[in-house]
This record gives sequence, structure tokens and C-alpha cells, in this order.
Amino acid sequence: MLKNDQLDAWDRENFFHPSTHLAQHARGESPSRIVTGGNGVFIEDRDGTRLLDAFAGLYCVNVGYGRTEIAEAIAAQAKELAYYHAYVGHGTEASITLAKMVMERAPAHMSKVYFGLGGSDANETNIKLVWYYNNILGRPEKKKIISRWRGYHGSGLMTGSLTGLELFHKKFDLPFDTVLHTLAPDYFRREDLSMSEAEFVAHCASELEAMIEREGADTIAAFIGEPALGTGGIVPPPAGYWEAIQKVLKKHDILLIADEVVSGFGRLGSMFGSDHYGIEPDFITIAKGLTSAYAPLSGSIVSDRVWKVLEDGTDEFGPIGHGWTYSAHPIGAAAGVANLELIDKLGLVQNAKSAGAYLKNALQSELGGHANVGDIRGDGMLCAVEFVEDRDGRTFFDPAKKIGPQVAAALLTEGVIGRAMPQGDILGFAPPLCITEAEIDRVVAATGKAVRSVL
Ligand code: PMP
Repeated sequence: MLKNDQLDAWDRENFFHPSTHLAQHARGESPSRIVTGGNGVFIEDRDGTRLLDAFAGLYCVNVGYGRTEIAEAIAAQAKELAYYHAYVGHGTEASITLAKMVMERAPAHMSKVYFGLGGSDANETNIKLVWYYNNILGRPEKKKIISRWRGYHGSGLMTGSLTGLELFHKKFDLPFDTVLHTLAPDYFRREDLSMSEAEFVAHCASELEAMIEREGADTIAAFIGEPALGTGGIVPPPAGYWEAIQKVLKKHDILLIADEVVSGFGRLGSMFGSDHYGIEPDFITIAKGLTSAYAPLSGSIVSDRVWKVLEDGTDEFGPIGHGWTYSAHPIGAAAGVANLELIDKLGLVQNAKSAGAYLKNALQSELGGHANVGDIRGDGMLCAVEFVEDRDGRTFFDPAKKIGPQVAAALLTEGVIGRAMPQGDILGFAPPLCITEAEIDRVVAATGKAVRSVL
């Protein structure tokens, strides 16, 4: 319960919110909510409204809200040792234990994990390490990074550049010119409707290769991608996509960064998206699912081959000049240990797979026949419904009509949180991995009602 009834005024006067229309918020015109509690898949606000959070916050509260095991682990760590740094070889029981647990779960060819705070800084670390790697190997020209349109990799300077969404570039003087964007692997939105899925995959791979050849392979250091596109529209890759992309990257000696901030630790129904789609990355970025957002913590996992070069580099050039005060923060690490134990204990990776399939099938039964539903897609506990103006011609609504946001708003009035994805009329679902079939039934019935109230 809140002790203070001045919060609305204090909020407007003092609080600079991320990803918010600042002027509308200041005028009290945009939706806002003061959240006071959470339990399982539900959150509650200060008015006592209870909402089923079918997006797990920002697809991060993977074990659900209110887990006392994690809260107690955090409290115990804070009492025993709230902080010590990890520089010059220092560690804590929590950070070392978590590193071991992460590496036991990561693909076999990965070597070590560097801990940061959030997904953006973990990707910054990975890009710095890619550059460091090529400098150590005496290839100072090999520096450009290829990302994809509609990829999301954070909103820092470099990571905002990697993010392939215009909103994150506009008026920020981004992207940097060391970043190039290639095609989004979205078969539904392919330009040429006559293309088969296999032809589309070949097209993505040949566009990538043409870009590499145009720029010169000796200038391209790495390719970064989410195993399944997340914020750019929730799009699992077309069959064979990663195989085709990796073939091109290998041929031109280009490193691969798998951004598993969303997919890491079970969301796709496998521990990592890399296992799920047969990706063999040189770096894996982790964050959200690492602690289920009970405390901020991220990680950059590096492969054996990268690690070997980094190690040799420090022998030659001295200690690596990279680190945050809060790298491997003990409270985040304690939350991570308790969270990964809970994921195993509750079988949440398996539940993401089975209940995720149930969710997609239920959405299909509820909405598959609707004239304005063009695509229902997903993998594991990551799923989306895309709306179209005309299904047969696959034409899209005028974005000014804001169909996606309207459906999300109608869903909210039914007591369910889905996310209007920022690109296209796409309603996204990424519930906590512990969601039950009965809760899914509620999400789907509410979605059906919401869609029919708008379309
Ligand atoms: N990568 C991906 C794939 C993400 O989805 C996000 C956040 N949504 C990030 C990176 C950035 O993470 P953060 O917001 O914690 O900096």
C-alpha cells in the first residue's frame, strides 16, 4: 500500500521516464500507472487493479512475480556483503557460483562469462571485445558490425546504433557509421510475395554477402542478431536462416554475436536460442532471464576461440581496460543463483515449450479465422499476432490508425497486458515462463474480445 498521495505530482515534477512521450506525460495525457505489487503472473497497481502480465514486464520476469526464494537470497547477500568489486581478480561466492552455473548451461564451445548490469552494456562489452580481438590479431581495419533492420540490441551509443529501429536513431545522430544494417528475417513481410520461404532465406544470405563484398570482408568484424527477432516484431527465423547466415559469416571470417537477452534461460523452450536454432556464436549476450529482473545483471559469454586470443592479448598488452564498478554485483549474482535454481526446480524451460505451444494454438483457434489477422507466430513463450488490412493481398493498415496500440489498450481493459510492438500492428506476448494453461485461456479469451472490439 502506498503511504503517499502526492506521487502523481512528484512523478511529473521529478521523474524523467525512459521510452516515454515526455510532453504528453508532463501534461498527464499519456497512460501511466503506479505499480505496487506482483504475484505469479499478476501485477497490482495502487488503485487495486489486478492485471495479468502477459509480457512479463519487458519480457524479463521469467519466473513470475513474488518469488520469496529470490527475495530472501537478495536480502541474505545484502546483509552479509552488499558489495565488493570484481576488479583485479576479486570475486564473491555468489558471483563465482553464478559464473559456473551460467557456463554449465551455455553451449559447450563457450568459455567464460563477464558480468555487467543490463543488456545494453553487455552488448557494448561484446563490441569492445570484438574490436580488441581484431586489434590483438593485427587486423585493425576489421571493425564494422552488421546488424539487422528491426533488430534490438539496446539504446546506448553503439547499441542504439546496432538497434535497427528508426525511433532509436532519430535526433540522436545515430547510427554510427561503423554499423551497417541488413535485411530483417521476416518472411511474412517479404517484399516479393511470390518468394518461397527457402528463396527468402537465400535472399537474406545473398544480401548479406553482397554487403560484405561491397564493404570488403577485411573491414567487417562481426554480425549481431537475436535468435528470434524480439522488439522489432517477435519473428522466429524462417527455416534454414541461421544455417545460411553462418555459412556466409564463416566464409568471410566474421564473428557472430547471438543477442540472447530475451531468449537466454528458457524463453524459446530451450535453455538458449543458440541451441534452439543451431547457432554457434562467438559471443552470447544475456540479461533479463539471468535474474528474472529481480536485480539488474547481464553477461557477455565468450567462446573458447575468442577467450584464447583475449588471454594472449593481456600477456602482450597488459590487463584489459574494461570494467564497471558494478560488474558482477553480489546482489545481482545472488538473485541470479536463486533464479537459475528456481528455473530448474520448476521445470520452466520445459513449461515454456509446452505452455508456449498451447498459447500459440489457442490464439490460432481464437483468431486464426479473423479477416484482419494476417499472422500468428511464435516459438516457446514468445508469440505475436500481426494485423493486416487485407489478408489475401497482405496489405497493412495505415500506421496513423494505430491498430496495434488500440488492440493493446482494449486488452488492458480486459485485465491483460500484451505489448503493442513498436514496428507494425503487432500484438506481442511473452508471459512469465510459469504461466498455466488456465491463465493462458484467460489471455486468449481477452485477446479475442479486444481484437473484435477494434476490428
Ligand atoms: N538486447 C535485446 C535482444 C533486448 O531485447 C534488450 C532489451 N529489451 C536489450 C538488448 C537491451 O537490454 P537493456 O534494456 O537491459 O539495456
